[in-house]
Amino acid sequence: MSAPVVSMEDAELFPKAADALEMSEALPGLDVNAFEALHKQPNNLWWSRLVISTRGFVINYFKTEDERLFSMDDAFIIIHKIFVERNHVYPAVEFVKYLNTITGVPKLDNVLNATEAGTLPLAGNPFTAPDTCVAFTAVFGQPNQATYHIANLQKHAYYTFTRILGVLLRRWSADNEGVKRKGIRFDKDPEWQPDDRVVLFEEFYKGNRTWVLTDFDRHMIAFWRPKGTHVIFGDRHIEKKKRSGFNLCDYCGMLEQFPEQFKLMDQFRLCSSECLQSLAESIQAGNHH
Ligand SMILES: [Zn+2]
Repeated sequence: MSAPVVSMEDAELFPKAADALEMSEALPGLDVNAFEALHKQPNNLWWSRLVISTRGFVINYFKTEDERLFSMDDAFIIIHKIFVERNHVYPAVEFVKYLNTITGVPKLDNVLNATEAGTLPLAGNPFTAPDTCVAFTAVFGQPNQATYHIANLQKHAYYTFTRILGVLLRRWSADNEGVKRKGIRFDKDPEWQPDDRVVLFEEFYKGNRTWVLTDFDRHMIAFWRPKGTHVIFGDRHIEKKKRSGFNLCDYCGMLEQFPEQFKLMDQFRLCSSECLQSLAESIQAGNHH
């Protein structure tokens, strides 16, 4: 059974309400067996787009909070390394169990606020309580003030990723029992169209609005190079941009924010001197076609 349908227009996955990131309820816990079965399928594009859309959905609520934004990008890069790149110190299934423990704490939002503020009775600290300390220290770090601060900044990233993955796993299990659902399967559908929350600030369907690149975007561009912008925006959107005169960097595949933004250097359209140098090195090594 192929991976469950994900669309950013799906209001259960990506609600548009102001309280869409509400996290007072403990989550029911991801079904570890269903997760393993889904994750066993070779489908990195699906997982990557799940992380990209979840990250865009969350991050757009924190446009004006730089510290939280950068810290959450760190969390989403780790999520991407675990579920897509599969080269993290924790195997994905182990991480899923940690997420279950963390998101199973009732009123996680308040608990992490109080942990950072130091107003929690010692027995209530999830970083030291016997049932939860392994998961919290694995995901956020050793119990100390700096870790409590980071956890408080990153909580929406892990909670929301777990919530969305939980909905998808339940749908997938139901699909496997014969219930069919229609929609875009973004693991292979060239029509994949994320909405404007997939990146920060830009309404990329219109005019010259710009996309604010952060560490997460750079990580995606580098990981999928040179197809990163196709993965983020979909083939159709990139083709449309090209027809309107926008270029891609010939090395990293970055999309211009306005036509002719990237300069021609040695007949190549390149976004930066770093890409010029990398291209030169790869030509020398005989790797560029
Ligand atoms: Zn480039």
